[in-house]
Amino acid sequence: MELTKRLLEIQTILKTVRQDGDESKESGGSALQLPSIVVIGSQSSGKSSVLEAIVGQEFLPKGTNMVTRRPVELTLINTPESDEEYGEFPQLGLDRIRDFRRIQRTLYDLNMSVSETECVSDKPVELRIYSPHVPDLRLVDLPGYIQVVNRKQPPVLRQRIRDLCESYLKQPNIILAVCAADVDLANSEALKASRRNDPLGVRTIGVITKVDTAEPDTAVHMLTQNDYPLHLGYIGVVCKPVKERVGRVPHEIVLSEAQYFGRHSEFQQPGVQIGVGTLRRKLVRVLEESMRRSLSNLVDAVRSELEETRYQIKVHYNDERISPESYMAESLDALKQRFKVFQQQFGKPQLRAEVQRWLESQVMNVCAELYWSNPGVRDLSNHSDDMYWSHQLDRASALLTKSGVGRWTTQMVVDLLMDSVVTMVDNEPFVHHPETRAAVLNFSHTILRNKYHPTVDQVENTIKPFKYEIEIESHEWSKARKRSTALVDNEIRLCRQALKKTQSKIPRKQLQQAMQFVRNAEKRESTQTNVDEMGYAQFSPRLLRDAQHTLMVQDRLSILHLRRKALMSSACASAENKRFCPEAFLDVVAEKLAYNAVLFINYELLQDFFFQFPRELDANLYYGKTLQQTREFASQNPRIGQQLRLLERRQKLELVMTRLHELVRQQTASEQRDYRT
Ligand code: GDP
Repeated sequence: MELTKRLLEIQTILKTVRQDGDESKESGGSALQLPSIVVIGSQSSGKSSVLEAIVGQEFLPKGTNMVTRRPVELTLINTPESDEEYGEFPQLGLDRIRDFRRIQRTLYDLNMSVSETECVSDKPVELRIYSPHVPDLRLVDLPGYIQVVNRKQPPVLRQRIRDLCESYLKQPNIILAVCAADVDLANSEALKASRRNDPLGVRTIGVITKVDTAEPDTAVHMLTQNDYPLHLGYIGVVCKPVKERVGRVPHEIVLSEAQYFGRHSEFQQPGVQIGVGTLRRKLVRVLEESMRRSLSNLVDAVRSELEETRYQIKVHYNDERISPESYMAESLDALKQRFKVFQQQFGKPQLRAEVQRWLESQVMNVCAELYWSNPGVRDLSNHSDDMYWSHQLDRASALLTKSGVGRWTTQMVVDLLMDSVVTMVDNEPFVHHPETRAAVLNFSHTILRNKYHPTVDQVENTIKPFKYEIEIESHEWSKARKRSTALVDNEIRLCRQALKKTQSKIPRKQLQQAMQFVRNAEKRESTQTNVDEMGYAQFSPRLLRDAQHTLMVQDRLSILHLRRKALMSSACASAENKRFCPEAFLDVVAEKLAYNAVLFINYELLQDFFFQFPRELDANLYYGKTLQQTREFASQNPRIGQQLRLLERRQKLELVMTRLHELVRQQTASEQRDYRT
């Protein structure tokens, strides 16, 4: 009894080891398999009734169309210390089910989840029943291939069913061949299947059901015949109450199995095995013997699995210790570390540089739009039209101050922060964790979105005065003058680069001709000459576009040179003449805008983001995670998943090994005791 119980516990652990490893080994030939009792019998042979009689509960789905489509691996666990009877489906993770009708329904559903076209599934249903009234046993109820095979099915399916069943009928399993007393043993499909897999009949137990349906003599003959010999013999059972007519005035009485056998003396002779009780005891004894014989094989198999697993851990992972929790913590630490580095590298000075760069490019755009493409700019000097240029300067300033600086600069910083977060999570190990990556982006986005409008408003509020008046200190002016000269220099450099690029791809002469042509055309266009008459066809459109562009750049270049000279001249030495030095003036404006924008973006947005990000990270990804979620996270990374599986496998196998050693020691001690007495 003890041995079976202990081995069943071990088997429960081994089952999870097998599932982690190779699922194809599930049913039959795995070396880590312990013997089970496999129940076979054709439809209506009374198979379900026998199983239920062994368990003492009705729990199997019934009905005329009820054909088993999946093997049911039934483990019975004797719990002498408790009155409770309940079932568990370990695969489904349901709680204890005390209502056996619910077990029946669940089995029905699991059975029906296999479609009719698929016919059978080799994924077994696992069911454990705990009760003080059951013995420790492991039984397998097989898909009724015997009944199914006979129906009209494609041969491939028939073969599949057969293969599945035969894998269960192999060594070291014990076969329980169920035959009904009202069917000739010669026709018993169960016995045929048993003979194919156990030709010597050494591990098959015959069960003759519905003994009450045959004459007692006939039944006794079936139980003792030697035409279909089985070493473990045949046991007769009655699993339904029997109605018998008795008495001189005939009347019907209902008899239990024990009463039925008691009333018929034919059964009371040596060598006749009868009753569910006898059957149970026999099953327990035979299974225990079989378990004992399998023990040393199992020890060897577990040892070699364990060695193999240890070897894999050493070779692939250098015996490194990790757990799902440690991996999760390390991953999040890596992210926090990256964030810290970013935080150190992106402070107020970098923020200022970014905002300033953006505003300077705005200044250049405004200059290009209002000045450099304005033909009148060649005459922009302190002798020219004061009113016009003052007005122009106001427009330019307004273009800068009223263009939504708050919105654009804030958005730019938000984009920059989001891009940095993306870079942080588009790296190991987060490439393996798409949901985590999405969660990080999501909460980052939420923090920034919540801060966006307040920041924009703040920036806009503080720059409001600049929309009306800009006061300029002389030191501000001289700085701006220098900076704007440098910016114009940069524009000059860009124009030269553009010219060089065009010149390098088009022969000089060709380009010059085309430019000449464009110049002429522009002149004539203003006098409205027909373009076709001018020999338009001799230049490709692309060449004309390039020529036009070159002329434009040359023009811009000459204006820029003029502007540079003007900026350097004494006329631009003081802010008084700002209307003639728009580049410098706009630079002052940009500088003031940048200063205020940076002040508030830094305070409202950046510092807040730096504060909240690590906290959100912990709140979203660390705290409150269940062990299951942590495991799922870790196993998303294939390398870590594999490592964890191997470590878990090793742990389980070590546990099994310890228990097996203990069992073997006890067995040897008890054998020595038996030997001495
Ligand atoms: P299965 O199809 O092999 O699982 O067979 P069942 O256990 O469902 O039994 C088939 C039929 O035989 C049912 O109607 C049962 O009531 C009946 N049956 C089962 N055991 C006995 C028995 O010992 N005596 C009699 N007379 N009928 C039985």
